[in-house]
Amino acid sequence: MSVPFIDLKRFEEGFLSRWSSKVAEMSAKAEFIGGNEVAILENRLAEYSQVTQVVSCANGTDAIQLALRAIGVGSGDLVLVQNMTFWSTFEAVINVSANPVTVDIDLSDGGIDIDAFEEAVIKFKPKAAVIAHIYGWASAKLEEIRDFSKANGVLLIEDGAQCFGAQFKGESIYKNALISTTSFYPAKVLGGAGDGGAVLTNDFALAEKVRQLGNHGRTTHYGYEAVGWNSRLDSLQAAFLNISLDYLPQRLASRREAVNYYNNTLPKLGLKQINAPGVYLENGYCNVCLLEDDDQKTRLEAALKEDAIGFGNIYPGAMSEQLGAKGFLHAHVGEYNAQRLCRSVLNLPLFPYMKLEELVEVTDTVSRILVKR
Ligand SMILES: *Cc1c(COP(=O)(O)O)cnc(C)c1O
Repeated sequence: MSVPFIDLKRFEEGFLSRWSSKVAEMSAKAEFIGGNEVAILENRLAEYSQVTQVVSCANGTDAIQLALRAIGVGSGDLVLVQNMTFWSTFEAVINVSANPVTVDIDLSDGGIDIDAFEEAVIKFKPKAAVIAHIYGWASAKLEEIRDFSKANGVLLIEDGAQCFGAQFKGESIYKNALISTTSFYPAKVLGGAGDGGAVLTNDFALAEKVRQLGNHGRTTHYGYEAVGWNSRLDSLQAAFLNISLDYLPQRLASRREAVNYYNNTLPKLGLKQINAPGVYLENGYCNVCLLEDDDQKTRLEAALKEDAIGFGNIYPGAMSEQLGAKGFLHAHVGEYNAQRLCRSVLNLPLFPYMKLEELVEVTDTVSRILVKR
C-alpha cells in the first residue's frame, strides 16, 4: 500500500456539498470581493486565536510583508530572521527593502537560538525581528524572546504560518504576540481552496495600517495615504475557510492521534524526533525526524521511495545558504545548527484522517531499515 506524504482530498462527509452550494449561492449574487464572508472569517479567527484584530490578506507571505510595513520597517532597516524557516520569511524582509541578518536556531525545538538572538540584538540594534514557529509549535523560550525584544525596542513579528491551532500554556500562540501572521495555503492546518493569509494583533492602530496597506494604501475611495498593494482575501476563499473552521477540531484531533502514534512507536525503533516543548499542545502539522547518520538517512529515504511512502525534508537548506540570499544577507549570528538540521531532517507523512494501517506501513519501513536484526 502506498502512503502519500500529504492527502488534501480527505474531506469530511458533507463538506464538498456545503462548499458547492456556497459557491453557487455567492456566484449568483456576484459576491466576490469583501462582504459578509470575509468579515465573519476575520471575527471567527480573532475569537479562535484570542486576539482582538485579524486582517485577512492574499497569502502568508503578504501577511509578513504587511506586518513589516505596518510596524514601519523600510529601506535600509536591519531585521533579524531565523535561519531555518520557509524562504518566504526571509524573502519578505528583502521585499520591503530591509536588510536581513540571519540568526541560528536551537536544535531542540527548531526555534531561534535565544543566545544568538540576544547577541544579534545587542550587536546590530535591529529595528525588527521575524521569528517563525515552524513544525506546529514555537520556541520553548518564546516568552523570553518576546520580553527581550520589548525591553530592547525590537519590534517582533511572529510568522505563525505553521502553528494555527497549536497552544502555548493552554492558550493560542498568537494571543500575546505584538503582531503575528498566518497562511491558509491548502497544505497548512487551516487550508483554503487556494492562497490566503492573515495578520493578527491586539493593536487596533497596527491592524488598521495593515488593512490600509493591503488595500492600496487607500483612505477614501480615490484617496491614498500610502503606497500599498492589493492583498485582499477573496470572498469565496473566506467562505471555504469558514466552512473549514467548522471541521477544524476534528482535523486537529486526527492529526494529534497520528502524532501520538509516531511518538509511541518511533523512539522504540531508535528514530530521533524533534518534539514540541512541554509547554505546547502541538497542532500536528509536521513530523520531524533527525537522522544524523548520513548513510542511514540515505538508506531510509531509498526504502521509503521503494515502498511508495511519501516523505519530506523540511527544510533542506538554511536561508543564509540560498542563492537568492546573495547580495542581500547583511550578517549571520550564532552557530550553524540550522545547517545541521537541514542535513538530517526527514518528515514522515502526517495529515488529517490518516488510517492506522497507513501509519503502520510507514513505521514498518522505518523498522526494516533502523532495527538491527
Ligand atoms: C507557508 C509558509 C509561509 C508562506 O505562506 P504562503 O501563504 O504560501 O505565502 C511563510 N512562512 C512559513 C513558515 C510557512 O510555512
